[in-house]
Amino acid sequence: MAQAETRPFDVAVAGAGIFGLSVAHAAIKAGLSVIVFEKAHVGAGSSGGVLGALMPHMPARWNPKKEFQFQALSCLEDRIRQLEAETGLECGYARCGRILPLTTTDKLEHHLERAQESELRWHPERTGFSYTVEPKGSRSDWLDAAAAPHGLVYETLAARISPRRYLSALEAFVRGHGALVENAEVIGFDTVSGVVQLAGGRDPVGVRTLVVSGGFAAFELIETLTGERIGRGEKGQALLLEGHGLEDRPAIYCDGLYVVPHDDGTVAIGSTSDRDFQDTRSSPERSRELLERATAFCPQLAGREVLSDWAGIRPRCHKRDPLIGRLPGYEQVFAATGGFKISFGIAHLVADALIADLTGHAPVHPLPATFRPDHHFGSNRLDADN
Ligand SMILES: Cc1cc2nc3c(=O)[nH]c(=O)nc-3n(C[C@H](O)[C@H](O)[C@H](O)COP(=O)(O)OP(=O)(O)OC[C@H]3O[C@@H](n4cnc5c(N)ncnc54)[C@H](O)[C@@H]3O)c2cc1C
Repeated sequence: MAQAETRPFDVAVAGAGIFGLSVAHAAIKAGLSVIVFEKAHVGAGSSGGVLGALMPHMPARWNPKKEFQFQALSCLEDRIRQLEAETGLECGYARCGRILPLTTTDKLEHHLERAQESELRWHPERTGFSYTVEPKGSRSDWLDAAAAPHGLVYETLAARISPRRYLSALEAFVRGHGALVENAEVIGFDTVSGVVQLAGGRDPVGVRTLVVSGGFAAFELIETLTGERIGRGEKGQALLLEGHGLEDRPAIYCDGLYVVPHDDGTVAIGSTSDRDFQDTRSSPERSRELLERATAFCPQLAGREVLSDWAGIRPRCHKRDPLIGRLPGYEQVFAATGGFKISFGIAHLVADALIADLTGHAPVHPLPATFRPDHHFGSNRLDADN
């Protein structure tokens, strides 16, 4: 944009990852005018990856966060089908289910309890979701029987999506009904004049509200605005293999890794976690490690062509849960970041709740208290996990 916008947008979003684009989508649906600023390009952050696991929390020690995630995963398929119809772009979503190996008798006992609790928490009579313990040797053409000496759990709530195709569909919707400007970094917000300030001497843009959704980089902007650093980045790496013939297999979670087959004949393996990192690029050693570990419990991966590796920096709040809501000291500045490992499954309900905040309505699915700014700022900040 060469010229300063004369008309203030109702909402400006800083960041075109899954949180920022979901917020923009929800704002447009609510009838608001929207502009998204992205400092690089759509999907430049951790949302541009390959894994796409949409996994529930365990049905044990239930709490508001688990309930929110359950609600989010339950309604995501309908949202995706709607977005696909609106844009003509498909997102690679399927409720693929998930296998978890049981490696000790303790685990077997715990998961039998979880299977019972799922009857209460997952409402199978209404939703059809099941959480079942199966005997040793079950599904051994996919998960090696030696990796599951006490049987396995097979649950049907877990799903998968193509992160890149989901972003592309959201991007198309936002471009079609609002504005999206790439290579535009938000560096501040002037509350007096109501303008978003952009890097590189670009003309400021008049907006009524700013939503900061810059992934891990949001923590720096939030610190500039509030004086508090409430989160950090954590590096992760994933791998994409050729996976023809595996498209309909369930996801596996084993040895801290997910194996997620996709409908385009690929299978993703992830992820590593590095709290300390010098380099944001993927490393060949980490790729080798991922392949070796995954092939050990899933022999069908052996010998398959490695199509790509990919690394990203997840946004992680010191208090672990995402930060969603109005920034302290600001009427018109909000944040949605810190989804860490579960952003893709919850972004649509996070966005609904944020837009409800912004328009002064009650959300259909209220956010857990631990997602709220009160939990992240002020006296709590000394509890940072450092
Ligand atoms: C290896 C790996 C595997 C993962 N697997 C899964 C998975 O299977 N399922 C799942 O749900 N999650 C997964 N995650 C986590 C998930 O990717 C992240 O939680 C999610 O992408 C965060 O989305 P976001 O929109 O908050 O941030 P990002 O995707 O990082 O987006 C932030 C965007 O904001 C831009 N930006 C930053 N600052 C500014 C600014 N000041 N102005 C304008 N633009 C700005 C950035 O360029 C970026 O494009 C994985 C992450 C990694 C690294």
